[in-house]
Amino acid sequence: MEVKFETESRQLLRRLRDLLAEESAGQERLDQITHLTADSMSTGVCSIYLFRDDETLELCATEGLKAEAVHKTRMKLGEGLVGRVGRTRRIVNTADAPSTHGFRYMPETGEEIYSSFCGVPIQRLGETLGVLVVQSKEARQYTEDEVYALEVVAMVIAEMAELGAFVGEGAALVARHSQPIIMRGIAGQEGTVEGHVWLHEPRVVVTNPVADDPHREMERLTEAVEDLRVSVDEMLAETTGSDEAQVLETYRMFANSKGWMRRMQEDIALGLSAEAAVEKEQSLARARMGQANDSYLRERLSDLDDLSNRLLRILTGQGTETGAEMPSNPILVARNIGPAELLEYGRALKGIVLEEGSVGSHAAIVARALAIPLIIRAERATTEALNGNHIILDGDAGIVHLRPDDSVVSAFRDKIAMQRQANERYSSIRDKPAKTVCGKVIGLHMNAGLMADLPSLENSGAEGVGLFRTELQFLIRNQMPKRTELAALYKRVLDAAGGKKVVFRTLDIGSDKVLPYMKPQDEPNPALGWRAIRVGLDKPGIMRMQLQALMRAANGRPLTLMFPFIAQYEEYKWARAEVDKALAREQKLGNPTPDRLEVGAMLETPSLAFAPEKFFRDVGFISIGGNDLKQFFFAADRENERVRRRYDTLNVSFLSLIEQIVERCDRTGTPVSFCGEDAGRPMEAACFAAMGLRTLSMRPASIGPVKSILMRTNLDELRQVIHAARHRGEQSVRPAVASFFQNTM
Ligand code: PEP
Ligand code: MG
Repeated sequence: MEVKFETESRQLLRRLRDLLAEESAGQERLDQITHLTADSMSTGVCSIYLFRDDETLELCATEGLKAEAVHKTRMKLGEGLVGRVGRTRRIVNTADAPSTHGFRYMPETGEEIYSSFCGVPIQRLGETLGVLVVQSKEARQYTEDEVYALEVVAMVIAEMAELGAFVGEGAALVARHSQPIIMRGIAGQEGTVEGHVWLHEPRVVVTNPVADDPHREMERLTEAVEDLRVSVDEMLAETTGSDEAQVLETYRMFANSKGWMRRMQEDIALGLSAEAAVEKEQSLARARMGQANDSYLRERLSDLDDLSNRLLRILTGQGTETGAEMPSNPILVARNIGPAELLEYGRALKGIVLEEGSVGSHAAIVARALAIPLIIRAERATTEALNGNHIILDGDAGIVHLRPDDSVVSAFRDKIAMQRQANERYSSIRDKPAKTVCGKVIGLHMNAGLMADLPSLENSGAEGVGLFRTELQFLIRNQMPKRTELAALYKRVLDAAGGKKVVFRTLDIGSDKVLPYMKPQDEPNPALGWRAIRVGLDKPGIMRMQLQALMRAANGRPLTLMFPFIAQYEEYKWARAEVDKALAREQKLGNPTPDRLEVGAMLETPSLAFAPEKFFRDVGFISIGGNDLKQFFFAADRENERVRRRYDTLNVSFLSLIEQIVERCDRTGTPVSFCGEDAGRPMEAACFAAMGLRTLSMRPASIGPVKSILMRTNLDELRQVIHAARHRGEQSVRPAVASFFQNTM
């Protein structure tokens, strides 16, 4: 491929680089950049606008416009042509600016005499820092080459800004990564923590955006891309999973893509270093990613982003191992993270902030299991945070305070101190039963899914494990676990429980829980699709393997297990028959079998509440999976932020459903418990107890608060309050219940 070397642009970039090397103030540097650019492009005006806050661009330097306008002229995002470039991140190039849509006349700049306008966004890794503008009196469209050269200058300005080259007075020239920032995300796991940023993937810093010798840079790029191709090929040779292979094939496609390579070569020809050329492409991909509505396109752009990262690491020699030490109270900040990686960090982490992810993602499941506060969808977290930065997570509200100021810090320290006091109170009642004022004892059990959860059995005062989510062990691996591995793990769980009851739930996959090594199902509505027991019954091999592993782990001890998502009696019967078959097989093999076997069903669909009486007599016990039950009862997706909080758990309809289930179970003598997230919320837990539930299973950290409220509650009085609110026709009993607790406690 032939590459033209644009000596003019190269000269300009070289002068910019020399500028960076000189000891001068930020303002002076900006002034010189506008001067140099206007001069080299022979254009009347060159101006730099930078963001002074998220919404406002400020003229920070100009050659050609009135000097008095600098730091005075400001425009809102979207306002005028400059604001339009800032908002859309797209170039505006016009020969007749005054009649271009969005033009705004700013007399203070003396702008009316300039006819042509070309503005390009100054952006770095998808973040827009400002707008670079050239204008001229003569009505002309800037040529493609000129626009391209401007983009390259904008890129260098962005890199220089990242390196702190323009720090000066005023909001637009503050040092990057120094201001307090509040990011609003979504709470993935509640809790308030204070600590220091630990970037999962430290940012690659490009310290040499401009290079002298384009031939050498070309060679460096070619060599790095070659290394990258080899490593992608090696990964492909090693991979077994089809999904992974698909991603790597896409990588390979990009790595061999002529367009990608050509654009980077052109940037180098203009004077950029190889790494700056890669980063420029990466920035463009990120900007497009933010605008793409099509999920396929977004994924491909995200692949390209990963590939650029790999290339940058090869070029700069900056690996993930930077030698930096993990700070005290580390709070992990990442774009996203897999469950296995998260488990490797384990409880060393005090909190997690992700830019992507969903409430039901595997990382969120693991974070919840480890009880580490997690905030997801915190936009710009990885671009704003630096390793070691002070950070506070308000996991309850889903808010991240990065580099918080003193008032925020002291407010949070008060909150954390209050939580600590409350925890001390809870530990004083740890060994007491949850006995209500009216003398009812409520069994409080904990939910678990990892070996790491088991110590909580002791610390929390839980009576047992009311829900052991066995799918976590399947989710965190790259391949299907073997029966012997599972048997060993379940044995360790039972050993650690030391005789306390553990309710193992058989594999609950599908919907949001997709095994990395199983073919993904292309289902129109996965939450209503092929999931949980439906998979178990259709693919009995996996279920049999798991049942055998459980029986071998019990090895003569009692075993309790339940099936997820039973929607009708038949399903329970078939699943139960599998248990009997597994038992018979084990006996035939001469293996010791459990000395007592309890088999139950999770009630997670409204249909099961109306199952024939015979089901209730037949089933060993029922565990209400409130998370799913509630989503199907109200037809409101538990994963969808728009609707997931729309319907209150204390809505009279839902409470009445719970009451009816409990009544049916009481009539048939079927033990019944509740193990959804709501069991861990004190007010909800008390209402469930008032509706007749005597066993609740929750996150270990919730046991103290729930026990504390139950010990102060008279369930008969609370039941009266609920009945009265229902009688009055209230939609939710929450207000009535809240005032009952306020008045009685
Ligand atoms: C539930 O649905 O309430 C439940 C406990 O199961 P999971 O949250 O794992 O779906
Ligand atoms: Mg469920």
